[in-house]
Amino acid sequence: MTTLAPRVVDPHLLADLQRLGAPDVSACVSCGNCTAICPLADNDGTFPRRLVRYGVVGLREELLSSKELWTCYHCAKCSESCPQQADPGAYMAAARRYAVASYDPTGVARVLALSPVASLLTLLVLAAGFASILSVGHGPASHARLDLFGFVPDATIHWTGIAVMVIVFLVALLGLGSMVRAVARREGVHGRELVTGRRGWAHGLRAAYDAALVESLGQRRYREDCSEGAPEPWYRRRWIAHALTMWGFLGLLAATILDYALALLGVRATGTPEPVWYPVRLLGTLAGIAMLIGVSTLILNRARRVTTSVTHSEPGDWLLLSLLWLVGASGLGTEIALYVGGGPAWGYGVFVAHVTLALELLILVPFMKFAHVLYRPLALFFHSLARAAAVR
Ligand code: SF4
Ligand code: SF4
Repeated sequence: MTTLAPRVVDPHLLADLQRLGAPDVSACVSCGNCTAICPLADNDGTFPRRLVRYGVVGLREELLSSKELWTCYHCAKCSESCPQQADPGAYMAAARRYAVASYDPTGVARVLALSPVASLLTLLVLAAGFASILSVGHGPASHARLDLFGFVPDATIHWTGIAVMVIVFLVALLGLGSMVRAVARREGVHGRELVTGRRGWAHGLRAAYDAALVESLGQRRYREDCSEGAPEPWYRRRWIAHALTMWGFLGLLAATILDYALALLGVRATGTPEPVWYPVRLLGTLAGIAMLIGVSTLILNRARRVTTSVTHSEPGDWLLLSLLWLVGASGLGTEIALYVGGGPAWGYGVFVAHVTLALELLILVPFMKFAHVLYRPLALFFHSLARAAAVR
């Protein structure tokens, strides 16, 4: 691991972190209890204590270039073991909010994280904007059958979706670029090494496999290391709820893309009535149900404060969960409207609400807690590379 030089101290770092929900970690006495209990501490014996020190002494660049920031799943075992009640788990969560705000070149993430009023206004403006785009030039609402794409032309939805994805892609690319540069410099990883020779390729591919499939999709460490150990029934476990939410969201995304691809290939037009077992429809329905169950469990766990990790919530936590839940519920509502027969007027309203909320969720990805879907896999990639280097 290479050391950053020269070190720049930011005297406002801790205050900034506290504005984003961090506890007062200046009480930390570096006893190391959190490191002893953290399942992610590996053998270097410094995590998460080292990151707490960065916040206390103002080492901003060191904090932002720490891959461990994103490998932490906020199991809160460290918080439970801290004799100073410094709550390092909550500090890590706030540090991730700080990182999202710092990587975002537009400044929007910071405004949203700092002001619940600004978040609410942004949501309302986005909702009004998307609903207007979808409603302008809408077609007739047939009551013989629910003709959703006769009401809102699929071209309107597709082009709006593409525009949103371009914005998300560009903002995410800039944020990810900042993060990758910082972490790679710190870890001494050079892109050239990863594509040079069979060994370089092998390490890169192995790290990508670990990060994307084993850890992100398979949630190995989330399952094994961060199990609460509390007598909670399995269906209320945090990792299961998180997995259902993630797989459900990815399934919905895949169903939408497949639907569009089939239309582009001329196999079937978007909105063609299909039985519920038609593969793409079935994928969308099952994914929507999985996401709804996962998010509902996460909301209930947070509302009931079932574990230390959810005893404190920031507005951004609720914002993301609420948006995900509303997207899932309105999607399911649209499905129900399709199969109840006829063309119920409420079905058109629920459909417009569903598309509006989905676009809203998508465009906010790089600016809120959801950004961890971008940053965490990359951090896990570096984590896996570092482990391979340590073994060598
Ligand atoms: S357990 Fe608490 S006091 Fe000890 S090093 Fe960790 S954060 Fe600091
Ligand atoms: S919350 Fe869990 S994973 Fe994160 S630093 Fe604390 S003990 Fe480690």
